[in-house]
Amino acid sequence: MGLSDKLHDLILNFNNIYGHKVMSTKEFNLDLLANEYNNRSPAAVIKLAFEEFKNVAISFSGAEDVILIDLAIKINPNVKVFSLDTGRLHAETYRFIEQVRTHYNIQLELLSPDTIALQDLVRSKGLYSFYKDGHKECCNIRKVVPLRRRLSSLDAWITGQRKDQSPSTRNMVTVIEKDAAFSNKDKTIYKFNPLANWTSADVWEYISSNKIPFNTLHEQGYSSIGCEPCTRPVLPNQHEREGRWWWEESTQKECGLHPPDNK
Ligand code: SF4
Repeated sequence: MGLSDKLHDLILNFNNIYGHKVMSTKEFNLDLLANEYNNRSPAAVIKLAFEEFKNVAISFSGAEDVILIDLAIKINPNVKVFSLDTGRLHAETYRFIEQVRTHYNIQLELLSPDTIALQDLVRSKGLYSFYKDGHKECCNIRKVVPLRRRLSSLDAWITGQRKDQSPSTRNMVTVIEKDAAFSNKDKTIYKFNPLANWTSADVWEYISSNKIPFNTLHEQGYSSIGCEPCTRPVLPNQHEREGRWWWEESTQKECGLHPPDNK
């Protein structure tokens, strides 16, 4: 650790002890830190997010990204966690979200879609329009808009994205990145992906050795878990993303939260 880093840590500790706002006291140097933390542990990446930003939260999908909460709570017991409640999740996922809330004794914020926009969509196109004209419109209303609203009050968010989740849309994920999809000319939002370099095997090794709760859908053949109408189990030789929006082309299998052109 260099002298300036030590000074930075000292100032952060002073601020913590004396109740000042925990804010970055130096410019967030994305390129430098992304490079420096590329091979660091997920816990180190999460710690960095808390040190650098006051307004940072974990986005929990209700799946194996529960690891983020398990790691973060040991660093910051008051970590903010939110989930997108699309209204179309599996019953198992709702139960799992509730299990996580009680297991970690956290306030888990559920983000709902805008009622008027949702009613308009369902009135004009019904409940399954995505099978006919693609998932983008429904995902935009149920996921992207609520996320954008929540991110407007954050400086950074922490996600469970991994490179190995999709060879066509996530192979360029880095541990820290500027969120080009949700930043605007007035505000830059950063995205921390502590699990970017972990494999699915790493994730399940952690879950098993730390005995942390997991979504029971994983025991029914689901690898990637999203909304009930748009997710199905995969066969042993299929890639996990093949269970999502299976009627669409592989390069389209993102819901707008992590667009590939964001990289
Ligand atoms: S995953 Fe399917 S149900 Fe869920 S928001 Fe997207 S299109 Fe709608």
